[in-house]
Amino acid sequence: MLCYPPGQALLEGAQGRYEKEKPSLKPLITFYLQVYKKQKEMMTEIAPVMTRPEALQREQKTEEPILQNKTLLISAEAVEKMLRAVTAAFRECFPSVSSGNGNLADKIVLPALSAIQDSLTAEMLGRAEQVTLARLQQLLSRLHAGGPAEEKLYAASAQLLRLAVQPYYVQYAAQLPDAGRFAHWDRGVCPVCGDAPLLAVLRDEDGKKMLECSLCHWQWPVTRLLCPACGCSNHEALAFFYNPREKYRRVYVCNDCHTYLKTTVLRESPGPVIADMENAATLTLDLLAQREGYRALCPELQATLITGEVK
Ligand SMILES: [Zn+2]
Ligand SMILES: [Zn+2]
Repeated sequence: MLCYPPGQALLEGAQGRYEKEKPSLKPLITFYLQVYKKQKEMMTEIAPVMTRPEALQREQKTEEPILQNKTLLISAEAVEKMLRAVTAAFRECFPSVSSGNGNLADKIVLPALSAIQDSLTAEMLGRAEQVTLARLQQLLSRLHAGGPAEEKLYAASAQLLRLAVQPYYVQYAAQLPDAGRFAHWDRGVCPVCGDAPLLAVLRDEDGKKMLECSLCHWQWPVTRLLCPACGCSNHEALAFFYNPREKYRRVYVCNDCHTYLKTTVLRESPGPVIADMENAATLTLDLLAQREGYRALCPELQATLITGEVK
C-alpha cells in the first residue's frame, strides 16, 4: 500500500508533534513539508508511467522487484525543475548552511544540475538501482571531479536529486492495486522498486510489521520474527532494544547478518507517524545500533540534511 506524499490532515498532526518533541528538527520538518507540496504538484504534471499487465502478473510469482531491469521514462526537464524547487526549499530552511563560504546551496546543486542536463543521466535516473543515495553520490562525484573534501556536498546533492526524481517512482507504485499483492514477499527490499526500507512500523490494527520503502514509499508486510535482510528466523539471533523513555521506538537487530531496522509501534506512539520525520527523530537509535556494530538495512542515513552539516 502507499500513503505518500502524506495527506494534509496527517501533516498537520505530525508537524506539531515532531516539532514539540524535537525542536531541533524544525528546519528539516519545514523542508519536508515544502518538498511534499512540490512533489504532489510534480505528480500531477508528469505523465504516469503505466504498469504493463505482464509486469503485474509477473509480480505475483517473481522473486524480483517489479522495476528490476526496467527503465522509467524520466523527463530531464521535469527533474531539473523539481531539483531547483527542492534546492530553494533547502536554502530557505537551512540558511546557515546556504550562506557563507561561497554559497553552499549553489555548490550543492550545481553538480546535480549539470548531471541531469545530460540526457544519458536522465535515462539512468529511470532505473531504480541507479538512484540509491550511494549511486547518486558516486555519479555526482564522477561528474564534478572534486576531491574527497567534497564528499559531504555530494551526499547532500544526492539527497536533493533523489527527492527530485522520487515522484516518478511514487507515481509508479501508486498504480498498483493493494489487496493481496506481494503476500509472498518476506524480504528486506521493496517488492516494487527493490530499494531498502526507510523504517518499519507495527500496524495499529493488528500489530503486523510493515516496511516502508525509502524510494517509492510502498509499504509491505513482513513476518515479525524474521530478519528481512538474511531471512534468519532463529529467535536466539533476533532481538530488539529501545530507549526506556521511548519504548514505542524499537531497533530490531539480527545477530546473524548484523543488520538493524528501526521499528515504531503505532499503537503506542503518542502521535501520527510520517516515515521521513520518524527516521529523523530517531537518529540517536541509528548511532546506538551502529556503535554496537550493526549496519542499517537502509545504509544511507539522512544525517546530512538532519543536522544541516554540510561543510
Ligand atoms: Zn520501493
Ligand atoms: Zn539477518
